[in-house]
Amino acid sequence: MTENFQSFIAFVREQFPGHDFIPLHAPYFGGNEKKYLLDTIDSTFVSSVGEYVNRFEAMMAEITGAKFAIATVNGTTALHLALVAAGVKPGDEVITQPLTFVATANAISHAGAVPVFVDVDRDTMGLSPEALKSFLAENASINNEGICFNKTTGKKIAACVPMHTFGFPLRIDEVVEICDQYHIPVIEDAAESLGSYYKDKHTGNFGLMGTFSFNGNKTVTCGGGGAIITNDDALAKKLKHLSTTAKQPHAWEFAHDDVGYNYRMPNLNAALACAQLEQLENILANKQALADRYKDYFADSEGQLVEPIARAKANNWLHTIILKNKEEKEAFLKFTNGQKIMTRPIWRLMNKLPMYATCQTGSLENAAWLEERVVNIPSSYRP
Ligand SMILES: *Cc1c(COP(=O)(O)O)cnc(C)c1O
Repeated sequence: MTENFQSFIAFVREQFPGHDFIPLHAPYFGGNEKKYLLDTIDSTFVSSVGEYVNRFEAMMAEITGAKFAIATVNGTTALHLALVAAGVKPGDEVITQPLTFVATANAISHAGAVPVFVDVDRDTMGLSPEALKSFLAENASINNEGICFNKTTGKKIAACVPMHTFGFPLRIDEVVEICDQYHIPVIEDAAESLGSYYKDKHTGNFGLMGTFSFNGNKTVTCGGGGAIITNDDALAKKLKHLSTTAKQPHAWEFAHDDVGYNYRMPNLNAALACAQLEQLENILANKQALADRYKDYFADSEGQLVEPIARAKANNWLHTIILKNKEEKEAFLKFTNGQKIMTRPIWRLMNKLPMYATCQTGSLENAAWLEERVVNIPSSYRP
């Protein structure tokens, strides 16, 4: 086993020469980042009003093919705002997957709702249409007002938040179709999947809304930032309004007509985001080249490299392998991190965290299987 791990270390060092410590994912600033940042300072427009914020939104709409994009301060607030705009109210339930970054479940909690965890597919690591279908068949009922209720808890199932894990698209068209039958709006957590497509459509663009993150560890970053995309005019207006303290437009009056949020991305961050988005194609191509090398390497080595399903194009945010079992995973993590090659296990299942331990779950067989075996390996841009 150690021999295999040793050859992995050698392979990774070859890909990232000249570095002692090799991180999981370092940001890459190779374009107009400094120029645009200085621009905001020179103009004094560093805060939540400025040309770069509008430009960022236009770029996000163009890249994803969505009609509208709304900038936010981070991915968590993008999700929170999307849930609120979709009509999620305190006491409601929101279906999501147990295998996700904690922000997905936290945003549901911030909206006052309770997450319900439904299993993932093993190949996509994202919400499973099969599991969703059987969970809803067993637990859901639609009342005469057309509202979907959970028969077990009596609560409204107000939304569904599938997440495209590590940038690998899940079977999102099937998930949306099932949710449509139950009148459940879908908000895609596409935080990790900027540049990922399913059936030639960008992720985040299948449901009612999709949300993105530009945190420091993501494919492209602006320090901290997020975005919501949608094709619905009225929703886009509502999102922008709520994200900017629900202020009614007026040259000098302060009039607000709702409990709004201070969620709009500052111009300083948007400047960085615009420069990064200009580099997106370059970054994606560079990451694809590393994916191809890993594919060759793992063709005859221990560990199975995760690949996108048919008709899916992944952004290769974090390269991912599946090890034989929990023991091999633990040994791999210990050995590689000990050699200053950063590797990381997939998240602990949300329903195992203390704040989500009492949430309802379906059978979580696949999620538990993946939790024991999945590891991310170094995935940075190689200059
Ligand atoms: C990063 C991430 C978020 C949150 O994004 P922040 O910008 O860090 O708030 C949400 N969901 C998932 C799945 C993420 O990976």
